[in-house]
Order: sequence, then C-alpha cells, then structure tokens
Amino acid sequence: MDAPVRRSRFAGGPAGGGIRVSFEFFPPKTAEMEHTLWEAIGRLAPLAPAFVSVTYGAGGSTRERTHATVKRILAETALVPAAHLTCVAAQCADIDGVVRAYCEAGVRHIVALRGDPPGGVGERYAPHPGGYANAAALVAGIRNIADVEISVAAYPEKHPDSLTVDADIDMLQAKVDAGANRAMTQFFFENDHYFRYLDRVRARGIEIPIVPGILPVQNFKQARAFAERCGASVPRWLAERFDGLDDDPATRKLIAAAVAAEQVLDLVDRGVSDFHFYTMNRADLVYAICHLLGLRPNAAQEAKKAVA
Ligand SMILES: Cc1cc2nc3c(=O)[nH]c(=O)nc-3n(C[C@H](O)[C@H](O)[C@H](O)COP(=O)(O)OP(=O)(O)OC[C@H]3O[C@@H](n4cnc5c(N)ncnc54)[C@H](O)[C@@H]3O)c2cc1C
Repeated sequence: MDAPVRRSRFAGGPAGGGIRVSFEFFPPKTAEMEHTLWEAIGRLAPLAPAFVSVTYGAGGSTRERTHATVKRILAETALVPAAHLTCVAAQCADIDGVVRAYCEAGVRHIVALRGDPPGGVGERYAPHPGGYANAAALVAGIRNIADVEISVAAYPEKHPDSLTVDADIDMLQAKVDAGANRAMTQFFFENDHYFRYLDRVRARGIEIPIVPGILPVQNFKQARAFAERCGASVPRWLAERFDGLDDDPATRKLIAAAVAAEQVLDLVDRGVSDFHFYTMNRADLVYAICHLLGLRPNAAQEAKKAVA
C-alpha cells in the first residue's frame, strides 16, 4: 500500500513539505547556449532552490565563463549561487585568487573539487606542481582565506580512482575534516547504492548532509556515456526503458520523467528531503519532478524575475 503514504507525504503542498532542492548548471559557450541557460534559470528560479551551482570546466577551461555566469546570477536574480572550482592545471596562488575574486563578487558558497586529469577519467591524476593535491587540500585552502559554505563531491558507487569504497570514504572524511559543510553525490540510478553508501558514511561518524545528485535522463546515450566515464552503473532495466526510442524524443522525455519521478519519490519515501539536480541547463524535466515533489513557484521570486 504505497500510494496513501506517498499522498500524505506530499500533502505539504506549495511549501514542498520540507523538500529542498538545488540546481546545477554549466557555463554556456555560445550566445544560443546562454539563451537556453537563462531560460532554464528563469523557469526554475521561482521554485526557490536552496542554491544554484555553476560548474567549472575541465582544467579551468571555463574559469571566466563560470565567473561571468555566477556574477550574472548574483546581479539579476534572488538566487544563491555556488561556484564550482577545481585544482586542475593551476597553482595554489591562482586558485586562491579565484576564491578571493568570488568573495569580492559576493559569492558565499564554493563547490570544491579536485577535477579530472587533462586527458580525462582513466588517466592517472597528477597534481599541478605548486597546486592543491586533491579536493581535501583545496577545501583547507579555501577555509584559510574565506568564510564561505563549502560543498564537495561524494560517490555512492565509489570514484573510479579509488581502489575501495572505504578508501573513497577516507577522502570524504578528509574533506569534512578540512571544513566541508555538505557533499553532493555523483548521479546514480539505483537508490540502494545511495543508501548503502550513506550507511557506510554514517558508520564512519561523518555527519554532513550527503545530498543525492539526480540526473534526469534527457538523452539516454549521453547519460550512459557520462556514467561510463564517472563510474556510475547503468542498470539493464534503465536501458530497456529507453530501448528503441533513439529517434523518438517526445516519448523519451515522457519515459525520462517517469524514471526520475520514480527515483525521487522512492528517495522521499525513504526519508530523503534534499536533492541536487543535474539540469544540463534544461528546465522542463527538472521543473516537472520538482512539481511532483510538492514545490510550487514562489511569488516573490516571480516578481524578482519580472523586474530582471
Ligand atoms: C557534485 C559534483 C560536481 C562536480 N563538478 C565538477 C566541475 O564543476 N568541474 C569538474 O571538472 N569536475 C566536476 N566534478 C567531477 C570531479 O571533478 C571528478 O569526479 C574528479 O575526478 C574528482 O574530484 P573530487 O573532488 O571528487 O576529488 P577528490 O575528492 O580529491 O578525489 C576523488 C576520489 O579519488 C580518489 N583519489 C584521489 N586522489 C587519489 C590518489 N592519488 N590515489 C588514489 N585515489 C585517489 C579518492 O579516493 C577520492 O575519493 C563533479 C563531481 C560531482 C560529484
């Protein structure tokens, strides 16, 4: 008898029944992508996310674009931006400079990451000479210079560089010891991976929020390629659901909504209240899933949007 439980859980209505969400965007490369991003931000902002984060391209390749996007979010919306930052291909002093520039611009939340090696996942990671060795060192570096909220990454199915889940949790522990306030997870499709990981993290005495990262599958082929690169497993049932839909984007979208809805509703039923959505700069699926979670547009955010 699942349904009645679910209905009562969502009786929270417009306030979302205690559900908190955050949205991740990537900085646009072209004017057209910029337009798409800002359409997505405009649609999702009224849902009053706890924060919206902007990724940092591999090797710092989007440094200026990330900064520009974060600054525009600060200037034109009431949203709280979180700027991603990686250790790749930069000396500590350069990275510290980026942190200071963010602080001066009014940013109060950084997502601190090691980043991937320039050749991509699979290549052995070598810290930049004079750079931060890993995300834990970066967190410590940020803590030395700024009083900001710091989020880090966590891996329910372990990071591909880690030999074991325990080694991976050692790194999470190091990030927490250095001052991380929250972890957002790599995406996963089987909720049991998340709960097993959470049990192990809590058993180690790590108490920070471990917020599940949700990837609505806008494009199955692309999602499978991402998953292969980052060590997330793609269950056979998921592939079967998208089977035969390569040339049928309308049906794919309906299936994607159903799959993501099933995943987040199960997480809620099992006690999860915070979600980090990988939006891929698209609003529609994420908006629909948030609606299912009970979130409704906030009038004050709508007004701010109308002014902007
Ligand atoms: C929520 C989220 C947001 C992200 N945003 C971005 C982004 O904006 N830009 C970007 O480029 N990437 C991003 N990534 C990807 C991330 O940079 C990669 O997963 C990267 O490979 C690891 O970064 P980290 O911060 O988890 O590293 P760390 O926490 O430093 O390490 C990750 C894992 O690798 C293992 N490890 C690290 N070093 C070693 C070593 N020397 N020997 C053995 N094991 C080791 C550790 O066990 C550790 O658990 C994001 C990932 C997540 C989950």
